[in-house]
Amino acid sequence: MATSEFWHGIPRADIPWYPTVDRETCIGCTLCYTTCGRGVYTMQDNRAVVANPLNCMVGCSTCATVCPVQAISFPDRDLVWKLEREHKIFKIVRQEAKEKMARQEAMKARNAAEDKVASLTTRARMEVAGELGEKRFLVQLEELVKDRPYDIVRLRLEVPTVKGAMEHAPSFVSFEVTSTEQDDVQAFLSEVRDLIRRNDMVLVSENKV
Ligand code: SF4
Ligand code: SF4
Repeated sequence: MATSEFWHGIPRADIPWYPTVDRETCIGCTLCYTTCGRGVYTMQDNRAVVANPLNCMVGCSTCATVCPVQAISFPDRDLVWKLEREHKIFKIVRQEAKEKMARQEAMKARNAAEDKVASLTTRARMEVAGELGEKRFLVQLEELVKDRPYDIVRLRLEVPTVKGAMEHAPSFVSFEVTSTEQDDVQAFLSEVRDLIRRNDMVLVSENKV
């Protein structure tokens, strides 16, 4: 795993912070190996081996905390505090914090923009059942989209039989409501629902496409 060559401006190679495993005490449980996300350990002959010491995150001692037999040790924490003071790292840390906050803000703004796009309904499929009458529902539907940035596409009409249609047997119609400008169609969908209600028809299903 590639890790930074510097720790807040200090060359990582100059910082002796990494674990040491007491091979006699280690029981080979692999917990350190599986816990460390930085590829510091390998397992050899059923024992943990520190293969990449400089991958260890300065100040971390998680593997020592979880080792069931206390086979892992670290330098005293004073070593880290001393480095912080001697190298006056806090100017660099503040700058890094500013950059991190800017990245987080940018990420938040991007997520918000993506959520907004995901919440848009630019196309929806509707299935409607009922008596179409002398096609008055379809005519009204056509009037509803006329000169507006919406369209009705993939229209499918199912009538039971020609005679049945003449005798006003219930029919089934499905179509997709779409925005010709890729805008949200939700407000327009409520107009279509009103039209369905006014025609005494039943909205069987409505799904975002
Ligand atoms: S202290 Fe943290 S980073 Fe270092 S080896 Fe252990 S688990 Fe990995
Ligand atoms: S957690 Fe401890 S006992 Fe388990 S493999 Fe690592 S050093 Fe050995």
